[in-house]
Amino acid sequence: MSKRTIITAGVVLTMDAAYSVCKNGYIVIENGRISAVGEGEAPRAQEGDEQVNLRGALVMPGLINCHAHSPMTITRGMCEGVSLFTMDGFLNTLRRYESFEDAAMASASTGVSCAEMIRTGTTCFADQYFYADKIFTEVDNAGLRAVIAYGIVELGDEKRRLQELANADSFLRLCAEHGRIKGWVGPHAFFVDNSLDLIREEIAMAKKYQAGFHIHFATSNEENDYCAEHFGCSAIEKMEDLGILEVPILAAHSITVSDPDIKRMARYPFYPVLAPSAAMRSGFPAAPVKAMREADVTVVLGTDNVCNCNTYDMLAEMGTAGKLIIHREQDVKAIKARELVSMATRQGAAALGMEAEIGSLEKGKKADLIALDLSDIGWAPFCGQDYYTQLAYSVSGYSVSHSMVDGNWLMKDKKLLTVDYENYVRRMEEDTRELLRRMGS
Ligand SMILES: [Zn+2]
Repeated sequence: MSKRTIITAGVVLTMDAAYSVCKNGYIVIENGRISAVGEGEAPRAQEGDEQVNLRGALVMPGLINCHAHSPMTITRGMCEGVSLFTMDGFLNTLRRYESFEDAAMASASTGVSCAEMIRTGTTCFADQYFYADKIFTEVDNAGLRAVIAYGIVELGDEKRRLQELANADSFLRLCAEHGRIKGWVGPHAFFVDNSLDLIREEIAMAKKYQAGFHIHFATSNEENDYCAEHFGCSAIEKMEDLGILEVPILAAHSITVSDPDIKRMARYPFYPVLAPSAAMRSGFPAAPVKAMREADVTVVLGTDNVCNCNTYDMLAEMGTAGKLIIHREQDVKAIKARELVSMATRQGAAALGMEAEIGSLEKGKKADLIALDLSDIGWAPFCGQDYYTQLAYSVSGYSVSHSMVDGNWLMKDKKLLTVDYENYVRRMEEDTRELLRRMGS
Protein backbone atom coordinates (compact mmCIF):
# COMPACT_ATOMS: atom_id res chain seq x y z
CA MET A 1 0.00 0.00 0.00
CA SER A 2 1.33 3.47 -0.87
CA LYS A 3 2.01 6.02 1.83
CA ARG A 4 -1.18 7.75 2.90
CA THR A 5 -2.03 10.99 4.65
CA ILE A 6 -4.82 10.61 7.20
CA ILE A 7 -6.33 13.87 8.39
CA THR A 8 -8.70 13.96 11.34
CA ALA A 9 -10.71 17.18 11.48
CA GLY A 10 -13.14 18.92 13.82
CA VAL A 11 -15.39 19.59 10.83
CA VAL A 12 -15.17 18.59 7.17
CA LEU A 13 -17.16 20.85 4.88
CA THR A 14 -17.25 18.66 1.80
CA MET A 15 -19.02 21.06 -0.61
CA ASP A 16 -20.45 18.02 -2.40
CA ALA A 17 -23.80 18.39 -4.19
CA ALA A 18 -25.70 17.75 -0.94
CA TYR A 19 -23.51 20.19 1.06
CA SER A 20 -22.57 17.31 3.39
CA VAL A 21 -20.84 18.27 6.63
CA CYS A 22 -18.86 15.68 8.65
CA LYS A 23 -18.38 16.56 12.31
CA ASN A 24 -15.38 14.77 13.81
CA GLY A 25 -14.52 13.81 10.28
CA TYR A 26 -11.57 12.34 8.46
CA ILE A 27 -9.99 12.44 5.02
CA VAL A 28 -7.60 9.84 3.63
CA ILE A 29 -5.28 10.82 0.78
CA GLU A 30 -3.34 8.43 -1.45
CA ASN A 31 -1.29 9.35 -4.50
CA GLY A 32 -2.59 12.90 -4.44
CA ARG A 33 -6.26 11.90 -4.43
CA ILE A 34 -8.92 11.49 -1.76
CA SER A 35 -9.50 7.79 -1.13
CA ALA A 36 -11.95 8.21 1.74
CA VAL A 37 -13.86 10.98 3.51
CA GLY A 38 -16.32 10.51 6.32
CA GLU A 39 -17.47 11.01 9.88
CA GLY A 40 -16.39 9.16 13.01
CA GLU A 41 -13.35 7.00 13.51
CA ALA A 42 -10.68 7.37 10.84
CA PRO A 43 -9.12 4.28 9.22
CA ARG A 44 -6.23 2.88 11.26
CA ALA A 45 -2.82 4.23 10.21
CA GLN A 46 -0.26 1.82 8.71
CA GLU A 47 3.49 2.12 9.02
CA GLY A 48 4.72 5.09 6.99
CA ASP A 49 1.36 6.89 6.87
CA GLU A 50 1.31 10.57 7.74
CA GLN A 51 -1.22 11.35 10.46
CA VAL A 52 -2.36 14.97 10.80
CA ASN A 53 -4.50 16.01 13.72
CA LEU A 54 -6.74 18.93 12.76
CA ARG A 55 -9.39 18.31 15.42
CA GLY A 56 -9.38 22.05 16.16
CA ALA A 57 -9.94 22.97 12.53
CA LEU A 58 -12.52 23.12 9.77
CA VAL A 59 -11.31 21.39 6.60
CA MET A 60 -12.81 22.30 3.24
CA PRO A 61 -11.92 22.37 -0.46
CA GLY A 62 -9.25 24.89 -1.45
CA LEU A 63 -10.67 28.16 -2.74
CA ILE A 64 -10.73 28.93 -6.46
CA ASN A 65 -10.09 32.50 -7.59
CA CYS A 66 -11.47 32.79 -11.12
CA HIS A 67 -10.03 36.17 -12.06
CA ALA A 68 -6.57 37.44 -11.14
CA HIS A 69 -3.54 39.14 -12.69
CA SER A 70 -0.79 37.91 -10.39
CA PRO A 71 2.16 40.00 -11.71
CA MET A 72 0.21 43.20 -10.99
CA THR A 73 1.05 43.06 -7.30
CA ILE A 74 4.02 45.23 -8.26
CA THR A 75 1.61 48.16 -8.67
CA ARG A 76 -0.60 47.50 -5.63
CA GLY A 77 -1.76 50.76 -4.12
CA MET A 78 -0.62 52.78 -7.14
CA CYS A 79 -3.98 53.30 -8.86
CA GLU A 80 -5.86 54.90 -6.00
CA GLY A 81 -8.68 57.21 -6.96
CA VAL A 82 -8.80 55.84 -10.51
CA SER A 83 -11.48 53.63 -12.03
CA LEU A 84 -9.84 50.78 -13.92
CA PHE A 85 -13.22 49.80 -15.34
CA THR A 86 -13.17 52.59 -17.92
CA MET A 87 -10.83 52.69 -20.88
CA ASP A 88 -9.71 56.17 -19.90
CA GLY A 89 -8.76 55.15 -16.35
CA PHE A 90 -7.15 51.92 -17.53
CA LEU A 91 -5.08 53.43 -20.35
CA ASN A 92 -3.84 56.38 -18.31
CA THR A 93 -2.68 54.40 -15.29
CA LEU A 94 -2.15 50.66 -15.67
CA ARG A 95 -1.21 50.65 -19.34
CA ARG A 96 1.27 53.42 -18.60
CA TYR A 97 2.88 51.42 -15.77
CA GLU A 98 2.92 48.35 -17.98
CA SER A 99 4.71 50.21 -20.75
CA PHE A 100 7.67 50.71 -18.38
CA GLU A 101 7.66 47.14 -17.01
CA ASP A 102 9.56 44.19 -18.41
CA ALA A 103 9.24 40.42 -18.21
CA ALA A 104 11.82 40.07 -15.43
CA MET A 105 9.60 42.13 -13.11
CA ALA A 106 6.78 39.59 -13.36
CA SER A 107 8.60 36.89 -11.39
CA ALA A 108 8.91 38.34 -7.90
CA SER A 109 5.48 39.99 -7.98
CA THR A 110 3.88 36.69 -9.01
CA GLY A 111 5.79 34.95 -6.21
CA VAL A 112 4.38 37.42 -3.68
CA SER A 113 0.89 36.84 -5.10
CA CYS A 114 1.27 33.06 -4.82
CA ALA A 115 2.36 33.39 -1.19
CA GLU A 116 -0.62 35.56 -0.39
CA MET A 117 -3.02 33.21 -2.13
CA ILE A 118 -1.70 30.17 -0.27
CA ARG A 119 -1.77 32.05 3.03
CA THR A 120 -5.44 33.01 2.57
CA GLY A 121 -6.74 29.68 1.30
CA THR A 122 -6.64 29.83 -2.49
CA THR A 123 -5.34 26.62 -4.04
CA CYS A 124 -6.30 27.29 -7.67
CA PHE A 125 -6.59 30.50 -9.64
CA ALA A 126 -7.28 31.73 -13.14
CA ASP A 127 -4.80 34.29 -14.34
CA GLN A 128 -4.92 36.51 -17.40
CA TYR A 129 -1.95 38.70 -18.19
CA PHE A 130 1.25 39.17 -20.15
CA TYR A 131 4.36 37.18 -19.19
CA ALA A 132 2.49 33.85 -19.02
CA ASP A 133 5.77 31.90 -19.00
CA LYS A 134 6.95 33.79 -15.89
CA ILE A 135 3.64 33.15 -14.15
CA PHE A 136 3.90 29.48 -15.11
CA THR A 137 7.34 29.13 -13.48
CA GLU A 138 6.31 30.78 -10.21
CA VAL A 139 3.04 28.83 -9.95
CA ASP A 140 4.88 25.60 -10.68
CA ASN A 141 7.42 26.33 -7.94
CA ALA A 142 4.72 27.33 -5.45
CA GLY A 143 2.82 24.08 -6.05
CA LEU A 144 -0.46 25.86 -6.74
CA ARG A 145 -2.96 24.88 -9.39
CA ALA A 146 -3.74 27.46 -12.08
CA VAL A 147 -5.34 28.18 -15.40
CA ILE A 148 -3.08 30.74 -17.04
CA ALA A 149 -4.50 32.61 -20.00
CA TYR A 150 -1.90 33.91 -22.41
CA GLY A 151 -2.72 37.61 -22.76
CA ILE A 152 -2.57 38.74 -26.36
CA VAL A 153 -2.41 42.41 -27.24
CA GLU A 154 -2.19 43.33 -30.88
CA LEU A 155 -2.77 47.05 -31.28
CA GLY A 156 -2.74 46.79 -35.08
CA ASP A 157 0.86 45.58 -35.35
CA GLU A 158 0.98 42.68 -37.86
CA LYS A 159 4.47 41.52 -36.86
CA ARG A 160 3.52 41.53 -33.20
CA ARG A 161 0.27 39.67 -33.96
CA LEU A 162 2.13 36.79 -35.60
CA GLN A 163 4.75 36.66 -32.86
CA GLU A 164 2.15 36.70 -30.12
CA LEU A 165 0.16 33.93 -31.78
CA ALA A 166 3.29 31.78 -32.09
CA ASN A 167 4.21 32.45 -28.46
CA ALA A 168 0.69 31.66 -27.28
CA ASP A 169 0.73 28.40 -29.23
CA SER A 170 4.05 27.37 -27.62
CA PHE A 171 2.71 28.25 -24.20
CA LEU A 172 -0.46 26.19 -24.63
CA ARG A 173 1.63 23.25 -25.86
CA LEU A 174 3.83 23.52 -22.74
CA CYS A 175 0.78 23.54 -20.46
CA ALA A 176 -0.84 20.58 -22.23
CA GLU A 177 1.83 18.37 -20.70
CA HIS A 178 1.55 19.79 -17.16
CA GLY A 179 -0.69 18.25 -14.55
CA ARG A 180 -1.46 21.29 -12.39
CA ILE A 181 -1.26 24.16 -14.85
CA LYS A 182 -3.61 24.60 -17.80
CA GLY A 183 -3.12 27.11 -20.59
CA TRP A 184 -5.98 29.21 -21.92
CA VAL A 185 -6.23 32.18 -24.28
CA GLY A 186 -6.62 35.65 -22.78
CA PRO A 187 -7.52 38.53 -25.04
CA HIS A 188 -7.72 41.41 -22.58
CA ALA A 189 -11.00 42.65 -24.00
CA PHE A 190 -12.66 42.18 -27.34
CA PHE A 191 -12.92 45.05 -29.76
CA VAL A 192 -10.16 46.91 -27.86
CA ASP A 193 -6.85 45.05 -28.10
CA ASN A 194 -7.79 42.46 -30.69
CA SER A 195 -8.89 42.74 -34.33
CA LEU A 196 -11.63 40.43 -35.63
CA ASP A 197 -9.04 38.39 -37.57
CA LEU A 198 -6.97 37.88 -34.44
CA ILE A 199 -10.05 36.86 -32.47
CA ARG A 200 -10.83 34.19 -35.10
CA GLU A 201 -7.30 32.83 -34.81
CA GLU A 202 -7.55 32.80 -31.01
CA ILE A 203 -10.77 30.79 -31.20
CA ALA A 204 -9.06 28.23 -33.44
CA MET A 205 -6.16 28.00 -30.99
CA ALA A 206 -8.48 27.49 -28.00
CA LYS A 207 -10.28 24.69 -29.87
CA LYS A 208 -6.97 23.07 -30.86
CA TYR A 209 -5.89 22.81 -27.21
CA GLN A 210 -9.40 22.32 -25.72
CA ALA A 211 -8.80 25.53 -23.82
CA GLY A 212 -11.08 28.40 -22.88
CA PHE A 213 -11.05 32.18 -23.11
CA HIS A 214 -10.43 34.42 -20.12
CA ILE A 215 -11.59 37.95 -20.87
CA HIS A 216 -12.86 41.19 -19.42
CA PHE A 217 -16.40 41.81 -20.48
CA ALA A 218 -19.05 44.48 -20.01
CA THR A 219 -17.27 46.46 -17.32
CA SER A 220 -18.96 49.54 -18.70
CA ASN A 221 -21.14 49.93 -21.77
CA GLU A 222 -18.18 50.79 -24.00
CA GLU A 223 -18.12 47.42 -25.81
CA ASN A 224 -21.86 47.55 -26.43
CA ASP A 225 -21.59 51.11 -27.76
CA TYR A 226 -18.71 50.09 -30.03
CA CYS A 227 -20.56 47.03 -31.34
CA ALA A 228 -23.80 48.98 -31.84
CA GLU A 229 -21.92 51.57 -33.90
CA HIS A 230 -19.79 49.16 -35.96
CA PHE A 231 -21.91 46.00 -36.18
CA GLY A 232 -25.44 47.05 -35.27
CA CYS A 233 -25.73 44.58 -32.38
CA SER A 234 -24.75 44.08 -28.73
CA ALA A 235 -21.26 42.87 -27.78
CA ILE A 236 -22.45 39.39 -26.81
CA GLU A 237 -24.39 39.06 -30.08
CA LYS A 238 -21.18 39.88 -31.95
CA MET A 239 -19.29 37.34 -29.84
CA GLU A 240 -21.90 34.72 -30.75
CA ASP A 241 -21.62 35.67 -34.42
CA LEU A 242 -17.83 35.24 -34.32
CA GLY A 243 -18.10 31.81 -32.67
CA ILE A 244 -16.42 32.92 -29.44
CA LEU A 245 -19.20 31.48 -27.31
CA GLU A 246 -18.42 27.97 -28.51
CA VAL A 247 -15.42 27.77 -26.17
CA PRO A 248 -15.65 28.05 -22.36
CA ILE A 249 -15.41 31.67 -21.26
CA LEU A 250 -14.51 33.29 -17.97
CA ALA A 251 -16.00 36.76 -18.41
CA ALA A 252 -14.76 39.05 -15.68
CA HIS A 253 -17.34 41.53 -14.43
CA SER A 254 -20.23 41.12 -16.96
CA ILE A 255 -21.93 44.14 -15.42
CA THR A 256 -23.66 45.98 -18.26
CA VAL A 257 -25.66 43.10 -19.65
CA SER A 258 -29.32 43.02 -20.63
CA ASP A 259 -31.91 40.29 -19.99
CA PRO A 260 -31.56 39.02 -23.60
CA ASP A 261 -27.75 38.92 -23.07
CA ILE A 262 -28.26 36.75 -19.97
CA LYS A 263 -30.53 34.38 -21.89
CA ARG A 264 -27.86 34.11 -24.57
CA MET A 265 -25.15 33.37 -21.92
CA ALA A 266 -27.27 30.53 -20.54
CA ARG A 267 -27.03 28.67 -23.86
CA TYR A 268 -23.23 28.51 -23.76
CA PRO A 269 -20.37 27.61 -21.36
CA PHE A 270 -20.26 31.27 -20.32
CA TYR A 271 -19.15 32.00 -16.75
CA PRO A 272 -19.45 35.58 -15.48
CA VAL A 273 -16.87 36.30 -12.77
CA LEU A 274 -17.95 38.63 -9.99
CA ALA A 275 -15.03 40.61 -8.54
CA PRO A 276 -17.01 42.68 -6.08
CA SER A 277 -14.29 44.77 -4.44
CA ALA A 278 -12.73 45.75 -7.76
CA ALA A 279 -16.16 46.74 -9.12
CA MET A 280 -17.10 48.79 -6.09
CA ARG A 281 -13.74 50.53 -5.85
CA SER A 282 -13.96 51.37 -9.56
CA GLY A 283 -17.31 53.00 -8.97
CA PHE A 284 -19.40 50.33 -10.67
CA PRO A 285 -22.33 48.23 -9.45
CA ALA A 286 -22.48 44.46 -9.16
CA ALA A 287 -23.34 42.25 -12.09
CA PRO A 288 -27.01 41.16 -12.07
CA VAL A 289 -26.07 37.96 -10.23
CA LYS A 290 -29.59 37.09 -9.10
CA ALA A 291 -31.00 37.30 -12.65
CA MET A 292 -28.04 35.32 -13.98
CA ARG A 293 -28.48 32.56 -11.42
CA GLU A 294 -32.23 32.41 -12.08
CA ALA A 295 -31.41 31.94 -15.78
CA ASP A 296 -29.10 29.00 -14.89
CA VAL A 297 -25.92 30.94 -15.58
CA THR A 298 -23.16 29.86 -13.19
CA VAL A 299 -21.57 32.95 -11.64
CA VAL A 300 -18.16 32.52 -10.01
CA LEU A 301 -15.91 34.67 -7.87
CA GLY A 302 -12.55 36.37 -8.31
CA THR A 303 -10.42 39.11 -6.82
CA ASP A 304 -9.22 40.80 -10.01
CA ASN A 305 -5.99 42.80 -9.73
CA VAL A 306 -4.77 44.04 -6.38
CA CYS A 307 -4.66 47.64 -7.60
CA ASN A 308 -8.45 47.84 -7.38
CA CYS A 309 -9.13 45.02 -4.93
CA ASN A 310 -5.89 45.21 -2.93
CA THR A 311 -6.11 41.65 -1.57
CA TYR A 312 -6.26 38.04 -2.76
CA ASP A 313 -8.34 37.05 0.27
CA MET A 314 -11.20 35.06 -1.27
CA LEU A 315 -13.07 34.75 2.03
CA ALA A 316 -13.18 38.54 2.20
CA GLU A 317 -14.44 38.60 -1.38
CA MET A 318 -17.17 36.09 -0.53
CA GLY A 319 -18.52 38.40 2.16
CA THR A 320 -18.24 41.45 -0.05
CA ALA A 321 -20.01 39.58 -2.86
CA GLY A 322 -22.87 38.59 -0.57
CA LYS A 323 -23.37 42.11 0.73
CA LEU A 324 -23.15 43.62 -2.75
CA ILE A 325 -25.64 41.17 -4.26
CA ILE A 326 -28.09 41.62 -1.37
CA HIS A 327 -27.71 45.39 -1.47
CA ARG A 328 -28.25 45.52 -5.25
CA GLU A 329 -31.44 43.50 -5.00
CA GLN A 330 -32.60 45.04 -1.70
CA ASP A 331 -33.44 41.44 -0.81
CA VAL A 332 -31.76 39.60 2.10
CA LYS A 333 -32.61 36.28 0.43
CA ALA A 334 -30.89 37.17 -2.85
CA ILE A 335 -28.02 34.78 -2.07
CA LYS A 336 -27.27 32.33 0.73
CA ALA A 337 -23.90 32.12 2.48
CA ARG A 338 -23.40 28.53 1.34
CA GLU A 339 -23.97 29.61 -2.27
CA LEU A 340 -21.18 32.16 -1.87
CA VAL A 341 -18.87 29.39 -0.65
CA SER A 342 -19.95 27.27 -3.61
CA MET A 343 -19.09 30.10 -6.03
CA ALA A 344 -15.52 29.93 -4.74
CA THR A 345 -15.26 26.12 -4.70
CA ARG A 346 -17.34 23.66 -6.76
CA GLN A 347 -18.78 26.25 -9.14
CA GLY A 348 -15.35 27.77 -9.69
CA ALA A 349 -14.10 24.30 -10.57
CA ALA A 350 -16.94 23.90 -13.09
CA ALA A 351 -16.05 27.19 -14.75
CA LEU A 352 -12.48 25.96 -15.23
CA GLY A 353 -13.67 22.61 -16.61
CA MET A 354 -12.28 20.83 -13.54
CA GLU A 355 -15.45 19.83 -11.68
CA ALA A 356 -14.54 16.15 -11.91
CA GLU A 357 -11.17 16.81 -10.25
CA ILE A 358 -11.47 19.60 -7.68
CA GLY A 359 -13.99 21.90 -5.97
CA SER A 360 -15.26 19.46 -3.36
CA LEU A 361 -13.89 16.85 -0.96
CA GLU A 362 -15.15 13.58 -2.41
CA LYS A 363 -13.64 10.17 -3.00
CA GLY A 364 -11.59 10.10 -6.19
CA LYS A 365 -11.04 13.85 -6.43
CA LYS A 366 -7.65 15.49 -6.20
CA ALA A 367 -6.59 16.42 -2.69
CA ASP A 368 -6.79 20.21 -2.89
CA LEU A 369 -7.88 21.34 0.55
CA ILE A 370 -7.44 23.90 3.28
CA ALA A 371 -7.90 23.96 7.05
CA LEU A 372 -9.09 26.91 9.09
CA ASP A 373 -8.20 27.28 12.74
CA LEU A 374 -11.46 27.35 14.71
CA SER A 375 -9.67 28.72 17.77
CA ASP A 376 -8.90 31.98 15.95
CA ILE A 377 -10.67 35.08 17.21
CA GLY A 378 -13.82 35.73 15.20
CA TRP A 379 -15.47 32.31 15.01
CA ALA A 380 -17.18 32.03 18.39
CA PRO A 381 -19.72 31.08 19.58
CA PHE A 382 -20.14 27.47 18.46
CA CYS A 383 -23.76 26.83 19.35
CA GLY A 384 -25.10 25.51 16.09
CA GLN A 385 -24.00 28.48 13.99
CA ASP A 386 -23.87 28.02 10.26
CA TYR A 387 -20.28 27.39 9.12
CA TYR A 388 -20.97 28.93 5.70
CA THR A 389 -22.10 32.19 7.30
CA GLN A 390 -19.01 32.25 9.50
CA LEU A 391 -16.76 31.69 6.48
CA ALA A 392 -18.41 34.33 4.32
CA TYR A 393 -19.06 37.01 6.91
CA SER A 394 -17.17 36.41 10.18
CA VAL A 395 -13.58 35.40 9.47
CA SER A 396 -10.93 36.18 6.87
CA GLY A 397 -8.50 34.09 4.89
CA TYR A 398 -5.93 34.66 7.62
CA SER A 399 -7.72 31.96 9.63
CA VAL A 400 -6.40 29.44 7.11
CA SER A 401 -3.71 27.35 8.79
CA HIS A 402 -3.04 24.52 6.29
CA SER A 403 -3.08 24.22 2.53
CA MET A 404 -2.66 21.17 0.29
CA VAL A 405 -2.65 20.78 -3.50
CA ASP A 406 -2.45 17.41 -5.25
CA GLY A 407 -1.78 15.81 -1.85
CA ASN A 408 1.28 18.02 -1.21
CA TRP A 409 1.37 20.43 1.69
CA LEU A 410 1.92 24.09 0.71
CA MET A 411 1.36 25.43 4.22
CA LYS A 412 1.23 23.92 7.69
CA ASP A 413 0.37 25.80 10.89
CA LYS A 414 0.37 29.06 8.87
CA LYS A 415 3.97 28.47 7.73
CA LEU A 416 4.53 28.62 3.98
CA LEU A 417 6.46 25.57 2.80
CA THR A 418 6.98 26.19 -0.91
CA VAL A 419 7.40 29.96 -1.24
CA ASP A 420 10.12 32.18 0.24
CA TYR A 421 7.87 35.17 0.87
CA GLU A 422 10.48 37.53 2.36
CA ASN A 423 12.82 36.98 -0.57
CA TYR A 424 10.06 37.62 -3.09
CA VAL A 425 8.99 40.81 -1.27
CA ARG A 426 12.56 42.12 -1.24
CA ARG A 427 12.93 41.47 -4.96
CA MET A 428 9.52 42.92 -5.81
CA GLU A 429 10.30 46.12 -3.91
CA GLU A 430 13.52 46.49 -5.92
CA ASP A 431 11.43 46.05 -9.09
CA THR A 432 8.88 48.62 -7.93
CA ARG A 433 11.61 51.16 -7.21
CA GLU A 434 13.12 50.51 -10.66
CA LEU A 435 9.69 50.93 -12.30
CA LEU A 436 9.18 54.26 -10.58
CA ARG A 437 12.70 55.36 -11.57
CA ARG A 438 11.99 54.57 -15.23
CA MET A 439 8.80 56.59 -15.02
CA GLY A 440 10.71 59.52 -13.59
CA SER A 441 8.82 59.47 -10.31
ZN1 LIG B 1 -9.14 42.00 -14.49
